[in-house]
This record gives sequence, structure tokens and C-alpha cells, in this order.
Amino acid sequence: MSPELAQEATGRPTGDGTSLVHAVNVTKSFYGNQVLKGIDLDVHEGEVVCLLGPSGSGKTTFLRCINQLETINGGRIWVDGDLMGYEDRGGTLHRLADKKIAAQRREIGMVFQRFNLFPHMTALENVAEAPVHVKGVDKKTARAEARELLERVGLGERCDHYPAQLSGGQQQRVAIARALAMKPKLMLFDEPTSALDPELVGEVLEVMRELAEGGMTMIVVTHEIAFARDVADRVVFMDGGVVVEQGPPREVIAKPQHERTRAFLRRIL
Ligand code: ADP
Repeated sequence: MSPELAQEATGRPTGDGTSLVHAVNVTKSFYGNQVLKGIDLDVHEGEVVCLLGPSGSGKTTFLRCINQLETINGGRIWVDGDLMGYEDRGGTLHRLADKKIAAQRREIGMVFQRFNLFPHMTALENVAEAPVHVKGVDKKTARAEARELLERVGLGERCDHYPAQLSGGQQQRVAIARALAMKPKLMLFDEPTSALDPELVGEVLEVMRELAEGGMTMIVVTHEIAFARDVADRVVFMDGGVVVEQGPPREVIAKPQHERTRAFLRRIL
């Protein structure tokens, strides 16, 4: 049986058997405009993958497909063995109920370009909110864990500050702590530093670097080439809705094989 058929039969990812994320032939269109044209990607547990590529190449859309903020039109995505968004009944896909999709999404942390913290809540309340209201963790435990997480992102002294009293970099670090509070299996970062003033970028990247060093599985859409080079285990270069090339950062960034990658890197380096 071919690996693909084995996958059909069991409804579980095969890949090489160790993938936390296993995406096969993912397609996505918006109003007839095909944005993802068959993306295959495997991400292993503990791996840090940076998605690079020109604006409009489909990086954000792919990230949003992984956690079902977008519905894919074709292909399949598994996260830790779970087929995202669908149930496979004898080879036919049936959309899962919203509640089940929400449960799948809770396993995945996402950090957006804009931090979207609740403005009327302190940093600590922002971080403790979802564990209490979504997971049913008791308030005291959630607050203690939130404090620990805020300490971990260097904001132990800012627990009682409101978002408006924090810099953009601090707010983004709260957003990272908030995502971590749900104890995700996977963290997705969608250009987490692109809305920040340049002097605030470093502190956010530093928190991400520590997270990576701690073994978190991460997929990061970024234009921060130095971060990709230093922190990523692998970079994936996308253009026009396809993966053009991928590999260890030092190979892809230093010696790109494709002209499209070379042209992109020339523009941003
Ligand atoms: P990237 O992250 O590489 O910049 P995106 O995934 O944001 O690329 O966008 C890829 C393409 O999909 C763009 O042409 C964008 O305009 C289009 N697109 C993304 N989201 C939507 C949407 N919700 N509706 C219509 N078009 C969209």
C-alpha cells in the first residue's frame, strides 16, 4: 500500500511518522483566486520553521488554514494526528461541527501581527482569561500560571498594567504569554514583529528564541531574516501559492537554488 493510501485507510497522517504537522496538497481560493496551489509541509515536534516569501505569496493564509481560521478547499492537514476541520469517513471528508473545530483550535497557539489584547483587562487578566473561561481552570491556578508566564516573557513587573500602559513590544509579549497559557502543542506566529517600532522588535524575537530553545514547535511567518537564520531549523520559501524551496536556513538563505528565492532575498537583505 502506498503511504497515501495508508493515510486514506487510517485517517491518520503517515508522513515519516514523527510529524506534528502534516499538510498534504493544501489548496485555498478566495473568490476564484487560487492563493494556495498545493502546499505540502511536515513539521516535526520541537522544530522551528520560518515561512519566508514575498507579500501575497500565501504564507498567512497557509498559517490560518492550519488552525482552521480559513477553510481549505482541497488537501488535508493533520496536527498531532488530528485531521483538522474534517472527519474522514471512508475516504469522504465531512466538516466537523464548530464545537469540535474550536476544540482542535485550542491546541494551537497563534500570535498575530496585531496583539488584540482586551483593553479593559490587565496583562495578568488577559493571560488568565482563556484558561478560566475556555478550559475551566480555577481562577487561582490560572492567575498563578499567568504570573509565571508573564515572568517568563520578562513582564513579571507589569502584571497589573493595562495594554494602553504597555509598549507595543510588551503587548506582543503579553500576547505570546496569552497563547502559551492554553498549553498549546504548536505555536503559529504571523509576522509578530511587523507592527512594531524597530527598537521593540528585538525583545519580542528574544522571547521567541527562548521559546524555540525550550523545545516549542513553531511555525513563524516573518521577514526577519536574521531571526530565521539564527533560530529556525528550516526555512520554507513560498511564492505564488507554492513552496519554491526549503531547507536549513544557512543553505536556503546563503545559497538559494531558485531564482525566485534569490530575487526575494536580494530585495530584503
Ligand atoms: P502573504 O502572507 O504571503 O503576504 P496572504 O496569505 O496574506 O499572503 O495573501 C495571499 C493572497 O490571498 C493575497 O493576494 C491576498 O490578497 C489574498 N487574500 C488573503 N486573505 C483573503 C481574504 N480573506 N479574502 C480575499 N483574498 C484574500
